[in-house]
Amino acid sequence: QFSLANYASIVTGGAVGLGKSMAEGLAEMGSDIVIVDLNAAKADEAARELRERYGVRVLTIEANVCDPNDAERVREETVRAFGRIDVLINNAGIVRNAKAEDMTYEDWTAVMDVNLNGVFLMSQAVGREMIRQRRGSIINISSMSGTIVNTPQNQIAYNVSKAGVISLTKTLAAEWAPHGIRVNTIAPGYMKTELTEKFFRTGGELIERWMSMTPMGRPGMPHELQGIAVYLASEASSFATGGVFSVDGGYTVW
Ligand code: NAD
Repeated sequence: QFSLANYASIVTGGAVGLGKSMAEGLAEMGSDIVIVDLNAAKADEAARELRERYGVRVLTIEANVCDPNDAERVREETVRAFGRIDVLINNAGIVRNAKAEDMTYEDWTAVMDVNLNGVFLMSQAVGREMIRQRRGSIINISSMSGTIVNTPQNQIAYNVSKAGVISLTKTLAAEWAPHGIRVNTIAPGYMKTELTEKFFRTGGELIERWMSMTPMGRPGMPHELQGIAVYLASEASSFATGGVFSVDGGYTVW
């Protein structure tokens, strides 16, 4: 049920961090992988590791998820290489923090573009292929910041973009269920990656506050998203669609 043998899975932002870790999880279960990232060097490095460790085929595509032409190119190149697309993990994301009154329009737009428009464009391009195939699983990476206002950080654009991802997920789940496509969201809490590394490195009040607000009292590690990613990618989750799956050490229960 959890097997991903003969699957082809696309992971955006899969060169490092949570995306790379989820790609590893899928590869371990047998899936071929397409890493889509702006960072071609890191993507190639990740691809080498995946091939060596899991013996799967890995394609890297240097692309920007918020460019409609790139989204379409990713669909084309994946189908050309593997003949199908079983899974899309929309993981690429960025953060720009500022108080609401100080946030520049440029930063606001950059965050919306990658975190929300990118998820829509990639889902649309790949979804058209999945509609033809009459099957597929799309997994969108939101955040606990999409369900709560994550104080004391000033991240209005990030919060709104991640809340948007949840609505996008539910809407696509409803529209595409008749086509055999499932769409779900993972909402991670604080995970140790390059995105958050600087906070954990400098430590201090912010980290102490976050950890005291997390019932489990620690950040998550990237590999702790692998289980949920494999579950949602595979037939094990065949009746799950439109769901928001928290993986946050209990942060959002308080
Ligand atoms: P990261 O910054 O370590 O990695 C993000 C990757 O996405 C990078 O390889 C980057 O090159 C790529 N990327 C950025 N913009 C892109 C674009 N326009 N097109 C293609 N690729 C692009 O981030 P991470 O910590 O691994 O986070 C991954 C996802 O998880 C993000 O959506 C983030 O918002 C979400 N998330 C992270 C945490 C956390 O604590 N780290 C918590 C909740 C949610």
